[in-house]
Amino acid sequence: MTAIPPGSTIGVLGGGQLGRMTALAAAALGYRCHIFSPEKDAPAAHVADAATVAAYTDRKALARFASQVAVVTYEFENIPYEPVAELAAKVPVRPSPDILRITQDRLREKDFINGVGVGTAKYRPISNLAELMAGVEEIGRPSILKTARMGYDGKGQVPIRADTNLSAAWEGLAGAMPAPVQGILESFVEFEREVSAIVARGLDGKTASYVAVENRHENHILAQTIAPARVPFETARRAEAVARHIAEKIGLVGILGVEMFVGSDGGLLVNELAPRPHNSGHWTIDACVTSQFEQVVRAICGLPLGNPRRHSDAVMDNLIGEAVNRWPEILKDPDAKLHLYGKREVRPGRKMGHVTRLSPRKEETPGG
Ligand code: AMP
Repeated sequence: MTAIPPGSTIGVLGGGQLGRMTALAAAALGYRCHIFSPEKDAPAAHVADAATVAAYTDRKALARFASQVAVVTYEFENIPYEPVAELAAKVPVRPSPDILRITQDRLREKDFINGVGVGTAKYRPISNLAELMAGVEEIGRPSILKTARMGYDGKGQVPIRADTNLSAAWEGLAGAMPAPVQGILESFVEFEREVSAIVARGLDGKTASYVAVENRHENHILAQTIAPARVPFETARRAEAVARHIAEKIGLVGILGVEMFVGSDGGLLVNELAPRPHNSGHWTIDACVTSQFEQVVRAICGLPLGNPRRHSDAVMDNLIGEAVNRWPEILKDPDAKLHLYGKREVRPGRKMGHVTRLSPRKEETPGG
């Protein structure tokens, strides 16, 4: 296993807060980061050594980028697959472009998850109104119609309730996207809680699991993470095992967030995979021996993984939109760990920062 040594440059596709916190962790280990993003003034570029502002399809800019970095990772999934696959012919891309291809498409993702023996909500591919009508007939109501690709934070989702007109629902989805639209109809899961489990996997195949956490969403956007999740011991360990199983089966080198629904019977259904640092892992910066951001740097550079153990319990609140203006009040609590992403423009629903509050660790759990 050849390590990419400290001093090397890590290329990051995407310039948001996940790239920013990865670049900060990379710097602590002596790496440099080069951010590739179509966005000018990207939060990640503020703290990186170099930045390229270009479209993800700009082959010339990508070739130049490839010649300047030792390894490439990505901090979000909505990047076209082909240019990333081309990049991988020139420089290691971790996690592999195949993983990007699976996780950027809800249909492929759910096929993969079920294919490795893990449950999801019932789902059907939907590409026109007739298929939607047949799908609702089979799956029933309530259900959710989503775009298979390019949706995040609840964007590109239409709930199908008892009284929802299906033709209006299809228009609501298809009208907002360039044709042809590939959709997915999912049964609505009556979950008791949402949890996620984050696992890192190194080049040598060793894994490191963070303790399963509990997530609360508002308007489909993560609002709060509670670490550890308030679920029975056995449920949490099962969630962590599901994440490890998927990481192994998908051939992960990097980090993976697995979002799950917990039913009232303790059953787990996977909602989504994220092959990158995950918003529900931000608490690890302040509460764990090794944060998820340091861990992804270690994994993609072929270093041994760090200890994911938490020394404290934690509650992480996202600062969304105008909530960021509460920073003076948050700072009055000397124990609150405030993280701001340096985004100049406040927009409703935009993740502007987060705050983590620690408390003494209550429960001994294996691993994280
Ligand atoms: P997603 O965009 O798939 O991550 O969904 C965002 C949030 O919407 C989830 O975290 C859930 O709170 C809710 N959600 C998504 N899909 C379902 C589903 N099939 N059943 C119930 N709630 C869902």
